[in-house]
Amino acid sequence: MSALPEILAHNAAFVASREYEAFLTSPLPNKRLVIITCMDTRLVELLPKAMGIRNGDVKMIKTAGAVVSHPFGSVMRSVLMAVYQLGADEIAVVGHHGCGMTGLSPEVLLDSARRRGVSQDTLATLDHAGVDLRHWLTGFESPEVGVLASVDLIRNHPLVPRDVIVHGLIMQPDTGKLEVLTTGEPKNP
Ligand SMILES: [Zn+2]
Repeated sequence: MSALPEILAHNAAFVASREYEAFLTSPLPNKRLVIITCMDTRLVELLPKAMGIRNGDVKMIKTAGAVVSHPFGSVMRSVLMAVYQLGADEIAVVGHHGCGMTGLSPEVLLDSARRRGVSQDTLATLDHAGVDLRHWLTGFESPEVGVLASVDLIRNHPLVPRDVIVHGLIMQPDTGKLEVLTTGEPKNP
């Protein structure tokens, strides 16, 4: 059953009672910070609360594993928009322990796709078209390795200005405790 009817009913009441007033803010991030984190459900409310983030404070980008997988993909484009158009000058990649991207196997995911009706012909066509599904659907060996790889990609990105600083952190998804893997300083000119 779809979650949408309940969402729409809540939405109507939310707007009618002007609950939105507590959230009014500008599109510019008050803390001039971008957070790239995981879509994990445990972090939806916990991460902002545990980091003291309120509406309007940051640009939040969510993707499985907090992974920036491509230097010219949509996550990196969002980072560049935040930096050049919205005034952000600090980036935090926040992975978490117990992440579903740890050891993600493309075979398990593709088997699941086959059982849900995706045909072997479709997979073969993608393969012949040069789409490397197995590489694309492979996770990381640990959240730490994933975060550090994403931090490295951002720090060395040719379109990221030298004065932007990039941090790598890991959150404990039960307590919200942060562990610092690496803190950034502006790149040397
Ligand atoms: Zn995760």
